[in-house]
Amino acid sequence: MSYLDKSIEEISNALKNGDITTDELVKESFDRAHKCQDMFNSFVTITEENAKNQLDNLNGIKNNPLKGIPYAIKDNFSTKGILSTASSNILKDYVPFFNATTVNKLYKNGAIMIGKTVLDELAMGGTGTTGHTGAVKNPWDKNRLIGGSSAGSASAVASGIVPFSIGSDTGDSIRKPAAYGGVVGFKPTYGLISRYGLFAFASSMDHVGCFTRYVKDVAYVIDAIKGQDEKDMTSLPDDNIKYSEHIDGNVSGKKLFYIEEIVDKNNYEDTMDNELEQILDNFNNIIKNCENLGMKVEKISINKDLLKAIFPTYITISCAEATSNNSNLTGIIFGSRQKGASVDEVMFNTRTKGFSELIKRRFVLGSYILQKENQERLFLNAGRVRRLIVDKMTELFSKYDGMILPATGSIAPKFMEEVIDKLSDRYLLLENHMAIANFGGFPSITIPCGFVDNMPIGLNITSGIKKDLELLNIAYAIENTMNYKGQIAGGNDHE
Ligand code: GLN
Repeated sequence: MSYLDKSIEEISNALKNGDITTDELVKESFDRAHKCQDMFNSFVTITEENAKNQLDNLNGIKNNPLKGIPYAIKDNFSTKGILSTASSNILKDYVPFFNATTVNKLYKNGAIMIGKTVLDELAMGGTGTTGHTGAVKNPWDKNRLIGGSSAGSASAVASGIVPFSIGSDTGDSIRKPAAYGGVVGFKPTYGLISRYGLFAFASSMDHVGCFTRYVKDVAYVIDAIKGQDEKDMTSLPDDNIKYSEHIDGNVSGKKLFYIEEIVDKNNYEDTMDNELEQILDNFNNIIKNCENLGMKVEKISINKDLLKAIFPTYITISCAEATSNNSNLTGIIFGSRQKGASVDEVMFNTRTKGFSELIKRRFVLGSYILQKENQERLFLNAGRVRRLIVDKMTELFSKYDGMILPATGSIAPKFMEEVIDKLSDRYLLLENHMAIANFGGFPSITIPCGFVDNMPIGLNITSGIKKDLELLNIAYAIENTMNYKGQIAGGNDHE
């Protein structure tokens, strides 16, 4: 077993004790990245050239848990002097002249960037198959996708290339691939981490977050990257708490709830199969585990129509915001530019060629939603539904410490597999509830909780605003009741 397969805490101690040097560790991480690239396609760029500068910088950095730890970051984060494509043809040659705040903070903490990871084009999508450099494969089964949009960041951690990676989450883009990839995926309270330098998708729902293989490792990563940033006016004042020092797994007396409509088998009679049956049985066992930990778990009910409105509400708001945010991608100021006789023609040709059909469809939807005559009926109404959902959740989080639910209603699908009917309850309820946390900016985490048909499945836990530490502690306690922590696809066997 290599040090790379261990937790951040363990690797950090091994580095401090001199059991392994940073150079050796980083070299091994690059070797794995190259080796896995042909199999899983996690990276747009493996950033070997950049590593020397980072390693040289280490001497000036005081001891902290991320010093010398290799990591990967989604390619929709700006990295100075390093290609940042958002996995879109329109940015295939784009090299930013500044770093995202998260990148700067990790640099200052001594973490070493190994690569920029593949996403669904511009972070829009949930399959990890739409990036301009090709689909990301699931390290647990190469015939399956790993989900997206933070696909490469999930697979890089699942395959043991790095102990942590950075992603972004607008609807579930960290927490869904985490479930499909058998790793931990966390998005914090909106504003806890600066979004400066993250390519905006839907600003009111975009979050920076991370993947790890252990819940406690999330705390180390968040400690390094959280905090107020004058460059992001939505960032929150720092709470000045070191989360990693307060994760003790003591959850006795905590109260959790789950939404009956989402986990009730009777709701899925028409689409029930063995897979879903096992996912829901697994969930019921976890409830018992939680009770054994001294937590109270209660079933609550929410109007099904409201729950079924999550997906259309998400699509309406996200497409509108995405259309507006991405209007800067014209080929005029940056990005690859097509020829044209006028400025309008340049922009028209650049956007026609630069975006895939999927993206164009979202922009057509977004433009329609934002049209003056449609705004009231579509955009503003979606905002009202969002408010109803957030109000309901806020009320629940005033009484409970967290909500638990199965992260997904299926295991990672095979490529080209028939996806679940998007109008079915199974899709609308089980595959979309995680967007609730983006609507309200609630902290939310997915942790591995078992296997179905030899593929990992995940548990999602969400808490109230600014309850990140409490959430991590609950997740840590639940993680400790299970055998699925620290797992690596292929059983740590990379040699
Ligand atoms: N899958 C969702 C979408 O298609 C979420 C994407 C995300 O969180 N970035 O938009």
